[in-house]
Amino acid sequence: MLRRAGPSLRHFLLERKSGAGYSSYSSEAKMSRPVQARRLEGIDKNIWVEFVKLAATYSTVNLGQGFPDFPPPDFLKKAFVRALSGENHMLHQYTRAFGHPPLVKILAQFFGKLLGRDLDPMTNVMVTVGAYQALFCCFQAFVDEGDEVIIIEPFFDCYEPMVKMAGGMPMFVPLRPKAPKDGKLMSSADWQLDPAELASKFSERTKAIVLNSPNNPLGKVFSRGELELIADLCVKHDVLCISDEVYEWLVYDGKEHIRIASLQGMWDRTVTIGSAGKSFSATGWKVGWTVGPNRLLQHLRTVHQNSAYHCATVAQEAVAQGFQRELELYGKPESYFIQLPKELQQKRDWLVQSLDAVGMKPIIPEGTYFLVADISEFKSDVPDVPDSDEPYDSRFAKWMVKNKGLAAIPLSAFYCGAHKNNYNHFIRFCFAKEEATLKAANDILQKWKQEKTSP
Ligand code: PMP
Repeated sequence: MLRRAGPSLRHFLLERKSGAGYSSYSSEAKMSRPVQARRLEGIDKNIWVEFVKLAATYSTVNLGQGFPDFPPPDFLKKAFVRALSGENHMLHQYTRAFGHPPLVKILAQFFGKLLGRDLDPMTNVMVTVGAYQALFCCFQAFVDEGDEVIIIEPFFDCYEPMVKMAGGMPMFVPLRPKAPKDGKLMSSADWQLDPAELASKFSERTKAIVLNSPNNPLGKVFSRGELELIADLCVKHDVLCISDEVYEWLVYDGKEHIRIASLQGMWDRTVTIGSAGKSFSATGWKVGWTVGPNRLLQHLRTVHQNSAYHCATVAQEAVAQGFQRELELYGKPESYFIQLPKELQQKRDWLVQSLDAVGMKPIIPEGTYFLVADISEFKSDVPDVPDSDEPYDSRFAKWMVKNKGLAAIPLSAFYCGAHKNNYNHFIRFCFAKEEATLKAANDILQKWKQEKTSP
């Protein structure tokens, strides 16, 4: 290679730019231009980074972040081991970018059955790196600069920054709690949309609404009536629906999870998102998927092929086998999708009882593995600081993990900046935990209660 004698071209250009002579050139020349893209402004904070670190440092019992501390089912682990160490060494290589063929095939069959329509595995299904990347693909694919996206509060926190990163404007509409009937515990069903308020958010600038049912953090399972209200507005205003259904199997008390894509006029405008992490208790595998019409999914494929491109082949192969089993056992007692919610409902009831006994009023979730509890009766332990920038529940959750060793997530984390103080006396617990973990949480709560009541 030819080398120029003296300063390099880059050096030369740097000098010209700064207007200084060669003598002032330093090999440590610092960049002075802003490096951060404008789209990242204001979205750098992430609740999980902060609270995961606090839980790792202080917690003895972690009911914070949403993942099971019990193993995935044996049949799934075995399928992974088979995929990993079997004869088909091609499972260690790239597979089809938009989804490993056996997985998209079985997902098309499975969700085709649930939605009552024929699905083409190649065009109506796309596999993603968890539901997270499915959401990212949706916002990047559909949202233009200035488009409005309706988000129902409280919401899974990444929706807001993802909409903003795509140049969109999130428009928030809250679920409003109604007082339960005399003396009864509140249920997530008591948190409802105000139909007029929801309708007022739709305009010609609205591109999409994000629906999350069952909802993280409340555990609300939207009723058919509520879904029809949303669907009618989507059809009336020609709006897309991004339907995050990662907790689709986790519904309790005989409640039914209704897929909004199955309602009249909705298939054509809905992308349904699912997660093997939630369905099979394997959040670390990061296998997710989208189901929808080709006219929508073709744009998700464009984002996917230019970003993640691919999801681990062995994990996809194992999830494909998991779904094969579940299709064969569909609706039967041996099905994991029947057994998991049954076990989780017991854990939910257990935590409800334990919280209720100490006066941390639980809101009974109809679905998911989360439970939100009212901390008002514990306010004497962590006094309010008027004018604090930090919502009360966030200070409370930090105090709780540091002083009691119990980790939970403040509900305000699931509200936009302007509304963080509207519902700031609740914390969210995850109950997808071993009995021993839930018992340890109960012990902490009982001891705390005793300390509070003893003179
Ligand atoms: N949506 C919701 C509502 C979630 O709670 C989560 C995970 N906590 C995700 C999406 C992301 O799922 P995954 O782990 O499959 O990326």
